[in-house]
Amino acid sequence: MTATAMPETLDIRVPDLGDYADVPVIEIPVAPGQPVAKDQTLLVVESDKATLDIPSPTAGRLVEMLVGLGDAVSAGTLVARLAVEAPEVRTEPAPAPATAAPPPKPQAGCDLLVIGGGPGGYSAAFRAADLGQRVILVERDATLGGVCLNVGCIPSKALLHVAAVTEEAVRLAAHGISFGAPTVDLEKLRSFKAGTVRRLTDGLAQMARQRKVEVIRGTARFTGPSAVSVALHGGNTRDVTFASAIVAAGSSPVALAMLPDDPRIVDSTGALELPFVPRRLLVIGGGIIGLEMATVYSALGARVDVVERLPNLLEGVDRDLVAVWTKRNAHRFDRIRTGTEVMAAEATPEGIAVSIAGEAEPQTYDLVLQAAGRRPNGANLGLDAAGVVLDGGFVPVDAQMRTNVPHILAIGDLVGQPMLAHKAVHQGHVAAEVAAGHKAGFDAAVIPSVAYTDPEIAWVGLTETAAKASGRAVEVARFPWAASGRAIANGADYGLTKLLFDAQTKRVVGGAIVGPSAGDMIGEVALGIEMGADATDIARTIHPHPTLGETIGLAAEAGLGLCTDLPPVGRR
Ligand code: FAD
Repeated sequence: MTATAMPETLDIRVPDLGDYADVPVIEIPVAPGQPVAKDQTLLVVESDKATLDIPSPTAGRLVEMLVGLGDAVSAGTLVARLAVEAPEVRTEPAPAPATAAPPPKPQAGCDLLVIGGGPGGYSAAFRAADLGQRVILVERDATLGGVCLNVGCIPSKALLHVAAVTEEAVRLAAHGISFGAPTVDLEKLRSFKAGTVRRLTDGLAQMARQRKVEVIRGTARFTGPSAVSVALHGGNTRDVTFASAIVAAGSSPVALAMLPDDPRIVDSTGALELPFVPRRLLVIGGGIIGLEMATVYSALGARVDVVERLPNLLEGVDRDLVAVWTKRNAHRFDRIRTGTEVMAAEATPEGIAVSIAGEAEPQTYDLVLQAAGRRPNGANLGLDAAGVVLDGGFVPVDAQMRTNVPHILAIGDLVGQPMLAHKAVHQGHVAAEVAAGHKAGFDAAVIPSVAYTDPEIAWVGLTETAAKASGRAVEVARFPWAASGRAIANGADYGLTKLLFDAQTKRVVGGAIVGPSAGDMIGEVALGIEMGADATDIARTIHPHPTLGETIGLAAEAGLGLCTDLPPVGRR
C-alpha cells in the first residue's frame, strides 16, 4: 500500500541561454499527458548559431505545454508544467507485475555513446542510427561539426575561395579585363564565412533530429568502462551508461611555450576570425594550415613571412611540385625561413618582436599565427577510468577501431596521423558498423592530402621521394600542364600531374598534382590505387576534353610512351 503519492506541479522554465534571447521553438517532442524521464528533451530551440535541447529536470508527466512551435523564448520563460510524483512510502510489498515484461533499459543509457560531434563523431552517430542503434552524441561546443566545420576545413575554404577569385580577377588584367584594386569589407567577409559554416552546422543538427540521435551539449568524462558523466552547459551533470562508445574527441592546436599571451598571437581558430588585416604577418609552421592562412591574409593585403623548423615547406610532398608552388607564391612572401625556429617573442606596443634562431635582430609583426601542428585531445576524457590506454595523447586502435577495451572504439584525429576530416569520416563509419555488430575494418590503402593554396597541391600514396628513400622500383610519369589546352586556356600552364607506377606490376602506387583544382582531381588517383589500376587502365579510360582532369590520363599515356600531346619520347 502507498502512504503518500500526491503529485506536485513543477514549473519548467528556459534555462540560461548564454547570449541568446527570443529564440524560436523548433520542436516539441512530448505531448501533454505523456510521461517524461529526467533529462528527456521537452523543447528544442534554435538560435542563429545552435540548436539547444531544453531537458526535463526530473521525471514526471507533462501536464501542460505553454508554448507552441515558432514561439520565441528567453531564459526564464515559463514553457511547461510537469506533474511530479512525491516519494512513495510503501507499507507492504508491491504486487508482482501481471506479465513478465523485459526490464526497461535505463532512460539514461543507450546502445552507443559517441563523444565528439566532429566529422568522425557525427558520421559515426548517424551511421549507427541508420543501423538501428539508439545513439547519444555528446558535444561540448554549441554546434555540431567539430573543428572541420566550425574552425577548420570549411571556414578556411570559404576564405580561400574569396582569395582565389580576388587574385584571379587581378590576373585577368593581363588578358584585357580590369576590375580595379580590390577593396576589403572584413565585416561582410566574416559574415559570408559564418553563413557558410552555419548552413552546414544547422544541417547537421537537423539530420541528428531526423535520425533521432539525442545530442547532449556538454563535456563527457568516463567514470567507468560503461559510463560517462557529462558536465552540462547549465552547470548540472548527467550520467549516461552505454553498451558501446566511440570516442571522437579530435585535436587542438599546439601552443608554443615561448610565445607570450597576447591577442596579436593567434592559432588557426583566431586567424579564421579575421581580427584585422595585418601589415606584416608571421606564420610559424610551413605546413598545410600555415600556408593556407598565409594565402588568405596575403590576398587581403598582408605581407607574410614563414618560419618552418623542418628543412622544407610542405615536408613530405615531392620537391618538383613544391618548386612550382613556391615560384607561383613568391610574390606573397618577404621571407621564407626553413630549417630554423622561433626562439623568443616579446609583446611590444609596436607589435610582436620575434627572435629567430640564427638571426641577429628580432623582426616585429602585427600578427603572429602559430600553425606548428596539432595534438590529440586524449588527456581530459578520463579514459583511465574506463581502462583505455593512451600513447602520447593518441588512443591506439586496431583495424576495427577498437581500443584495448573492446566495446570502446576511437576514431579521427584522436587516433593518429593524418589528421584529416575524410579519414575521420571513414573511420567513423567503420566504428559504427563494428559497434552495431557488423563485420567491418578500416583498410584504406591510401588517404589523399590536399593543400588548398593557390595553386593547390594534392598528393596520394607513394611519393617519388619516399620511393627513392625506400629503394622501391617505380616508374615516374609526368604530364606538364604546358601541354594541356585547358590549362593554357585557364592561365594554369605551370601545373604538373605526376603518377608513380610499380616497376614490375605497372600498377599505380602514387600520384601528385599541382595546379588549380588539384584537390578535386586527386580522388581519381586514389580510386586507381584502391582498385589496383595499372597505367593502361588509366591511359585507356577516356577523360573528357578539354579538362584539367584529362592530365591524369595523359600522364599515364606519357608513362606508357603513348602520349601524342607531348614531343616524341627521346625529345622531351
Ligand atoms: P574534431 O573535428 O576535432 O572534433 C572533435 C569534437 O569533439 C570537437 O567538436 C570537440 O568540441 C569535441 N570534444 C572533445 N572533447 C570532448 C568531450 N570531453 N566531451 C564532448 N565533446 C568533446 N581536414 C581536411 O580533411 N581538409 C581540410 O581542408 C582541412 N582543413 C583544416 C583547416 C584548419 C584551419 C584546421 C585546424 C584543420 C583542418 N583540417 C582539414 C583537419 C580537420 O579539421 C580534422 O582532421 C577533423 O576535424 C578531425 O575530425 P574529428 O572528428 O576527429 O575531430
